[in-house]
Amino acid sequence: MKSLPSWDEVVKFHGHSCIGLATGYRVAEAALKELQSERDVDEEIVAAVENDNCSVDAVQYVTGCTIGKGNFIYYDHGKPVYTFVRRSDNKAVRIVAIGPDPDRFPELTALRQKVFSGKATAEEQERFSKMNADALEQYLNEPLDKVVRVQETEFEVPEKARIFNSVVCAQCGEKVMEPRARVKNGQMVCIPCSDDYKSRV
Ligand SMILES: [Zn+2]
Ligand SMILES: [Zn+2]
Repeated sequence: MKSLPSWDEVVKFHGHSCIGLATGYRVAEAALKELQSERDVDEEIVAAVENDNCSVDAVQYVTGCTIGKGNFIYYDHGKPVYTFVRRSDNKAVRIVAIGPDPDRFPELTALRQKVFSGKATAEEQERFSKMNADALEQYLNEPLDKVVRVQETEFEVPEKARIFNSVVCAQCGEKVMEPRARVKNGQMVCIPCSDDYKSRV
């Protein structure tokens, strides 16, 4: 396996360095290792993630499974669970991220509460930033089995992304992918123009 994109590259993509991003980085590292895969080029692997926190930016960047390519599926379960499938033989792994154990960093936990409640002094803020960076560094260097749990699983691979025709919405005149169009009074309309949609939001 070629080396992974560096942590700095991932931070640059995401915008800031945070523990969520680090979690996704370790998950992606485990996924490529388990599937003996390189970064995805053309949908050789599919990712299905069960949350939309900072971690999924690292998962997309490092594994190459992206929402735009269609091999990145998002389930709104609010769980730190990530499933990856290799298309060639359907091998699938379910990866559960284990975040850093707060009990290992009691001072950091206490400081975080102070900082987020706005009660920290300037020195405490500075100490917090330093300790946070150290904890993150340590997390990035933990052995993989300390930060993720890997389970074999089965996953039905969705078909490869398809290209659909577009139709023009009869109401707003904008293009819409045909399978997403709705019929309203016998005319094709886009979802935002369909009444059903408006009554739901
Ligand atoms: Zn973040
Ligand atoms: Zn419309």
